[in-house]
Amino acid sequence: MNGVAAILSTYHRPHELDRALASVLEQTVKPAEIVVVSDGCDVRNCELCANTAYLIAAFKQRTQIPLTHYQLPGAHRADTGAACRNYGLRVTSSPWIAYLDDDNWWEPTHLETLLNVANGSAAAFALSGIKIWAVSETDRFKDEVYLMDIRPRRPRHMQVDSSSFLHERRLIELYGPWGATGAVDQDWEIISRWLRAKEAWAVTGKLTLNYVTRKPLKFLACYAKNRMMQMFGLELHRCMK
Ligand SMILES: [Zn+2]
Repeated sequence: MNGVAAILSTYHRPHELDRALASVLEQTVKPAEIVVVSDGCDVRNCELCANTAYLIAAFKQRTQIPLTHYQLPGAHRADTGAACRNYGLRVTSSPWIAYLDDDNWWEPTHLETLLNVANGSAAAFALSGIKIWAVSETDRFKDEVYLMDIRPRRPRHMQVDSSSFLHERRLIELYGPWGATGAVDQDWEIISRWLRAKEAWAVTGKLTLNYVTRKPLKFLACYAKNRMMQMFGLELHRCMK
């Protein structure tokens, strides 16, 4: 069984979600199910939440793939999507899981290459390469600017993102859900648990995730610092994106 559940987390970005969802529908290997989870919102009659729901309903008409949308109760959590991803895990049943945050998007071969490399090496999780795009913090330049490529040869901090990997569902059952430790870098933290447990991994070497950072200078500074520490065999575990 190769079914993949695509779990998308979103909050108040219908414009970006439009691009993310379109990239899921354009996959060369389609997911078995798609679930979009909106974070909580405490805005009365929120226009952005209404637009998001409208957009997803329109996508539902365009695809045969089961597509569902949930909104978490309560206020916005600002937990970088952990609660949304955990909710998505509870409402899907596919043996493989891939995530996509609303402002990122996949190249069409993302799921295909991840599944191929995972199945080919009996890996429990697989990582893609990442194209990093920058959006100015000040909104002075609204368009995304291409920043750099990250092509991990093995799982490493700052070289993985929640939207860049595929994993077996059983890893969640064995090692717990997202954000269990309250760590800042949740994507690296959850992968660290799997690495400590000696779960097998694989990398595609393909740049199939497009990742947008809103703090490009901080991202570059942290990335450089992290690579330097890795050269000395150290890992930096608190770093902002
Ligand atoms: Zn809202």
